[in-house]
Amino acid sequence: MGNFKVEILETDLLIIGGGTAGCFSAVKAREKAADLDVLILEKAHIERSGCLAAGMNAINAYINPGESPESFVRYVRADAMGLIREDLVLSMARRLNEVVEEVESWGLPIMKDREGNYLARGRWNIKISGERLKPIIANKALEAGARVLNRVLVTDLLVEDNQVKGAIGFNIRKGVFYLIQARAVIVATGGAAGIYRPNNQGSAHHKMWYPPFNTGAGYAMGIRAGAEMTSFEMRFIALRTKDVIAPTGTLALGFGATQVNARGERFMAKKYAHLGAEGAPTPWRVYGPTQEIKEGRGPVFLDTTHLKEEEVRELKKSYLNMYPELVLAWAANGFDPGKEPVEIQGTEPYLVGGHTQSGYWIDVDRQTSIEGLYAAGDVAGGAPYKFVSGCWAEGAIAAESAVAYIREREGEERGPIIDKLDLDARAGEVFAPLNRSEGVHPREMEESLQKIMDEYAGGISRYYEMNEKELGMAEQKLEKLKSQVKYLKAGDLHELMNCHEVMDRIDVARVLVKHLQYRKETRWPAYQSFVDYPALNDRDWLKFVNSRYENGEIKIIERPYEQLIPGDRYLP
Ligand SMILES: Cc1cc2nc3c(=O)[nH]c(=O)nc-3n(C[C@H](O)[C@H](O)[C@H](O)COP(=O)(O)OP(=O)(O)OC[C@H]3O[C@@H](n4cnc5c(N)ncnc54)[C@H](O)[C@@H]3O)c2cc1C
Repeated sequence: MGNFKVEILETDLLIIGGGTAGCFSAVKAREKAADLDVLILEKAHIERSGCLAAGMNAINAYINPGESPESFVRYVRADAMGLIREDLVLSMARRLNEVVEEVESWGLPIMKDREGNYLARGRWNIKISGERLKPIIANKALEAGARVLNRVLVTDLLVEDNQVKGAIGFNIRKGVFYLIQARAVIVATGGAAGIYRPNNQGSAHHKMWYPPFNTGAGYAMGIRAGAEMTSFEMRFIALRTKDVIAPTGTLALGFGATQVNARGERFMAKKYAHLGAEGAPTPWRVYGPTQEIKEGRGPVFLDTTHLKEEEVRELKKSYLNMYPELVLAWAANGFDPGKEPVEIQGTEPYLVGGHTQSGYWIDVDRQTSIEGLYAAGDVAGGAPYKFVSGCWAEGAIAAESAVAYIREREGEERGPIIDKLDLDARAGEVFAPLNRSEGVHPREMEESLQKIMDEYAGGISRYYEMNEKELGMAEQKLEKLKSQVKYLKAGDLHELMNCHEVMDRIDVARVLVKHLQYRKETRWPAYQSFVDYPALNDRDWLKFVNSRYENGEIKIIERPYEQLIPGDRYLP
């Protein structure tokens, strides 16, 4: 493994991933227990990493006046076609306003009306000037006394007898191999992008909506450690502006733009309104335009031509707070959204537990099926519609639970983790691609993975549709790909990181395909369009599809749905 240094570190609470949920958890843990050591390991730099890297212009989950945590659960349940973990969504909803107000007190500018009330954008959103949101939370984590190691890629959890003991990883600039011993761990690595072939290719392949550096590492390390995962089949496909892949909520919710097809028809309300629910649930908003394109009525646009000059200026300002590339692309191309509608498209499928609900199966304290291991944010399952504020709420709950877990075990001996021999072997495995002069470059393997997933597991080129035969072929091809990771080679530490990223993506893709095969209905059109089973089938499938890695096999487990909040599951 060359001349790399090995370091063993100890901490009380280890947080893997210093993004939205991770930094917030760190603040809350230190507030609750100033005597405990809290260590964040972040593969990039906490100042500008993860989903918040470029900023935000809205908080998408807030209980506006007239609403309640219970009405929020009803809305989220209807939006997710009747199936969510209501206990998780409710416990999160009860904390939403408190965490938002707290971040405001740290310096986040939230827009207000003349009376000083937050400016609502739609039913659950409020407008912010959030370009500096990530530095604000990152600085707060540092101020609270959390230790941070930036540029450390965590590759695996250390688990003994189903109890977490820490993690391993390496510094992607210096090559130091780390073994971190911890009393409790919060995993907050976000979701998974780059599993499917993206909209843009070649040197633009990272021009995608979800951060391309959130590669599903947290899911993968949990899968390998035997943690129970849920709802991977509920993929997330975003409706975004064409090519630049900017969020469209700003256009639709913020500026009243409606979808129109090539003929200028407002097709959504006519054809894709679902079961009389107010508005279409989120999956339908991407399913509708995808069908229009498939049936020859594309391209599809969000019609902004009603906007006056002043409103266009406001629209641009709003994007400058969150997705400046769009404003630059408009300027470079002389595009005026007041004169022409904005073209939109669906993205490649992602796994994002904060928009949909794929991730760790957790209890209401956010503990995973592995003792002492907690999950928060996009990596945690069962609770869609989390967005920024839900990740904070979940980060706070996970931090409080992890601190309580540590307190309960004070004085206990730390068990053996890994002996010297094992340590060398583990470091050797992690650095192995650097020692291969011949083999497969990680980018080549990533392209193979993305091609399999796109063509056999319902990617963009298949209008997100899949059938039994294709999924069976995807499964076989992924097995083969998995057997080839031993040929991955890296010329430097950056490529070594890429090797681990593609290995993680392959592990996540294998579980995803198993889930897609198992749910024999179409609950979320586009997210999970199973053409052999096109109907929604509550009788057999109003339940969670979970999985766990056991003896080298992905075992599927069914878990029941429990309704806590009364009412029609399809009405918001
Ligand atoms: C472009 C975009 C726009 C959005 N707009 C809005 C909006 O306007 N309003 C809203 O409410 N929500 C919005 N969201 C959603 C919201 O930002 C996310 O749900 C939320 O930020 C996710 O937080 P997280 O902590 O789970 O993930 P992240 O904030 O992405 O943090 C994950 C962190 O883990 C690190 N990491 C990953 N793998 C490893 C590893 N192996 N080792 C160490 N570290 C690792 C990453 O570098 C990253 O820092 C948007 C999301 C995106 C992508």
